[in-house]
Amino acid sequence: MNLGYSGRSAVVTGGTSGIGLATARILLAEGAKVAICGRDLARLEAATQALLADAAPENLLAVPCDVLNRDAVAAFAASVSDWSGGRLDLLVNNAGQGRVSTFASTTDDDWRQELDLKFFSQILPIRAFRPLLDASTAPAIVGVNSLLAAQPEAHMVCTSAARAGVQSLLKSLATEFAPHIRVNAILLGLVDSGQWQRRFEARPDQAQSRADWIAALAKTKGIPLGRLGEPDEAARAVVFLGSPAASYITGAALEVSGGVSRFI
Ligand code: NDP
Repeated sequence: MNLGYSGRSAVVTGGTSGIGLATARILLAEGAKVAICGRDLARLEAATQALLADAAPENLLAVPCDVLNRDAVAAFAASVSDWSGGRLDLLVNNAGQGRVSTFASTTDDDWRQELDLKFFSQILPIRAFRPLLDASTAPAIVGVNSLLAAQPEAHMVCTSAARAGVQSLLKSLATEFAPHIRVNAILLGLVDSGQWQRRFEARPDQAQSRADWIAALAKTKGIPLGRLGEPDEAARAVVFLGSPAASYITGAALEVSGGVSRFI
């Protein structure tokens, strides 16, 4: 199957690590021009060098940008416009991270920060890049979301609530932006990336190996496929949903979780 990325352009927010970096790499391999952003300059530079190992410099744009900073997002969109000739075919809203906290341990400020991160990491890039998407013949937005949107966890209470709200937002946009811009989401289970590396490093039993820690995690979580997902496995779903090959799919939520959901 030809995904149809040749000659197209894509933006991946949070494209410097984990799922975002894997998405950028696959999009480049599929023939797209790709712009990435992230906040940490060293991570941005490392991701740039890693991606340039297999891509031509003119096909990659790397810009420091905090997606929660409206002015920075506007400047990122202006750079992308100059680089891509005023057009964007795919926006992948991937930047972010989860928050582990129960209702009792979540302060009002924590709630505000989490709702801000989850909603505005979608809203600000969508507003800023909409004119460029409008100029495309087959534009798409993919929101990287979590299975927590549909299956909340008490130990991630505010993330779960925010994720459900983001799902509602994306569903509404799929209608408002139709028929021109397709809007879809992926619902992730546990994907072995920067977030899980940080949690591994903070594990209570520092003697536990990474393989043992992951195996125990997969068992505790009851993942039918018996392991965490790889960033590439999530990225391939993003790349498909964002491609012209998915031309009749909008308003969809694709679960990438190793089968961990308990609803039908
Ligand atoms: P990583 O920590 O590996 O990557 C996160 C990326 O987002 C980094 O490039 C980071 O760069 C960037 N980022 C974070 N905040 C911002 C910001 N405000 N502005 C710009 N860039 C930002 O995590 P994952 O690859 O695992 O996560 C990707 C997405 O998938 C996230 O939204 C996450 O919440 C979601 N997700 C992941 C799951 C998993 O199991 N891995 C499960 C469910 C959802 P920098 O810090 O330098 O800005």
